[in-house]
Amino acid sequence: MNRRLVLIGPPGTGKGTQAQMLSEEWKIPHISTGSLLREAVESGSELGGVVEQYMRSGELVPDNIMLDVVKERLSHNDVSGGFILDGFPRTIEQAEGLDRTGIDIDRVVYIYVDEDEIIRRLLSRYECPKCGYIKGAENNKEDVCPKCGVKLVRRADDDIDIIKKRLKVYREQTEPLLDHYKDRGIMLEVDGNGTVEEVFRRIEKGLMDEDKHQE
Ligand code: AMP
Repeated sequence: MNRRLVLIGPPGTGKGTQAQMLSEEWKIPHISTGSLLREAVESGSELGGVVEQYMRSGELVPDNIMLDVVKERLSHNDVSGGFILDGFPRTIEQAEGLDRTGIDIDRVVYIYVDEDEIIRRLLSRYECPKCGYIKGAENNKEDVCPKCGVKLVRRADDDIDIIKKRLKVYREQTEPLLDHYKDRGIMLEVDGNGTVEEVFRRIEKGLMDEDKHQE
């Protein structure tokens, strides 16, 4: 199975959760640009200082900064067996920048969910500030991370006005990317409604069916 994957979809469709599960199953790194940026903000680094305001307002961080962040991450040895990019690329410029690195993407998994459901999910989302573990919407009991034991928190940008802004930014800047990848014939479209396990099975089945098709 080809293992250089990109997960695309609006915020709240479960990309992070699915990327985490695929990463555990296939033993390849889950690279979430949102998490990389949140870590930078938290560490107080120079990059963190530059990106904080964009993130807080739901705007995209400029493409040149994002390309530097991703190129640096993709230069680590742990990506040699594949990787799962979650939250990148988010603009045509970023996708073209990724193409220019010469790193071929094997599959793009596009996860779609209705906007009403997205808003419902984001308003009830809790995650681990340390490892990025995301509590499923159907799981009401958990309040600490099962991996780190740290208290789960709501993300600062999971606020209704910022969510609406992020959805608008997605429609205007990220949605055009779907055609970019559809035209190449590497896109798998997955219904993100249902339980985490149901969506995971759809993704795995879709990827395996496409692999068989190409053999
Ligand atoms: P996420 O965790 O993927 O929802 O990302 C959180 C925030 O980080 C976004 O609202 C953006 O401000 C920023 N961000 C993450 N990935 C990117 C990207 N590829 N391009 C621009 N901004 C990004």
